[in-house]
Amino acid sequence: MQTVQLDSHSQRNLRRGKKNLNKEHGQILSHWYQSSGRDLPWRLLWTKHQNPYHVWLSEIMLQQTVIKAVIPAYDRFLKTFPSILELAKAQEEQVRLACRGLGYYRRFSFLHKAAKLLVNEYQDPKAKGGIRWPTTYADWMALPGIGEYTAAAISSICFDQPKAVVDGNVERVLCRLLNLKIPPNLPVLKKEFKVITNQMVPQESPGDFNQGIMELGQTVCTVKSPSCQECPIKPACLSCKTKTQHLAPAPKIKKEFTNINVRLAIPVAKGKIGLIQRSKTAKFLKETWGFPTYIGAEKGQFKLDQSQSKVDWKSGTSVGKIKHTITHHKIEAEIFETKARYPSIKWFNHADLEEKLLASLDQKAWKQFTKNKNS
Ligand code: SF4
Repeated sequence: MQTVQLDSHSQRNLRRGKKNLNKEHGQILSHWYQSSGRDLPWRLLWTKHQNPYHVWLSEIMLQQTVIKAVIPAYDRFLKTFPSILELAKAQEEQVRLACRGLGYYRRFSFLHKAAKLLVNEYQDPKAKGGIRWPTTYADWMALPGIGEYTAAAISSICFDQPKAVVDGNVERVLCRLLNLKIPPNLPVLKKEFKVITNQMVPQESPGDFNQGIMELGQTVCTVKSPSCQECPIKPACLSCKTKTQHLAPAPKIKKEFTNINVRLAIPVAKGKIGLIQRSKTAKFLKETWGFPTYIGAEKGQFKLDQSQSKVDWKSGTSVGKIKHTITHHKIEAEIFETKARYPSIKWFNHADLEEKLLASLDQKAWKQFTKNKNS
């Protein structure tokens, strides 16, 4: 990401933010959240059971996925693993199945690992949810797969730790409050936003403040048309005062993508389809079951993604191409039907593939294959 120096207007307004935005504003947002926050499933469960497992799971799912897609997946996951104890006992494959379709499986692998660790070390039948839970921001940060944002969210919501979250919604709200007409994800703003939000966190309800400021960004101070008339902190908003909400913030700095070519082979024999389990060291989709995958190197040459060195990767008939994005990689995959034999291949009936193919890339490839067959 490019390094950008802040202009003098932005520097001045950040100083104003540090001076003026305080716990009173934080409290206004907390109260607004308490009266106007949406009844999302994880919030209702937290109110009813006060079990951190429910909040933790929601925060992991929401990391890369929109609320609308998380709601049914959250429900399905909790039906399979109602508590951390069940999750800790599960096999990896069961966890994969329970979060299928959400992508970015690594976050669930870490969740599973952390659940096992907590149950091993802190199981206590008398404690809430069967565990003596970590309580501080630092405790949560020490668990696998937990970053700054997630540690702040869980420790503030479940354990009243005064630690502010900064996500994309919060960045936008702050840019509007401070009339910053610059990209909200400029690296230089990160530290400044942490200072400002942490000085706004009220001691009594830090979790409600965090959820309130994010909720404000999701429902009121939205990207395209902020509803300033409904905003509880309108009196403190510099961009509203100068009617420049449409200029603050400037468009985000776009991620830089790497284009990558991939060749997916769909082995077919006697009406069955062959799958392999990708290796731990695969570049993408580590350890998932899927179609044998070549990662493109240069000029149409292909480099093996795993130990399939004896296979003739060029054999097969093309059944079309698909596009897919994984983190900052734009993947173009050519799908081949092949009779080649791959080491460690396992054969499945068509009906069983839906359950086995958990990665979106493989699901898309299978869809392309069946479309081509039926056309
Ligand atoms: S007043 Fe309008 S622009 Fe300012 S924070 Fe509220 S919704 Fe956003």
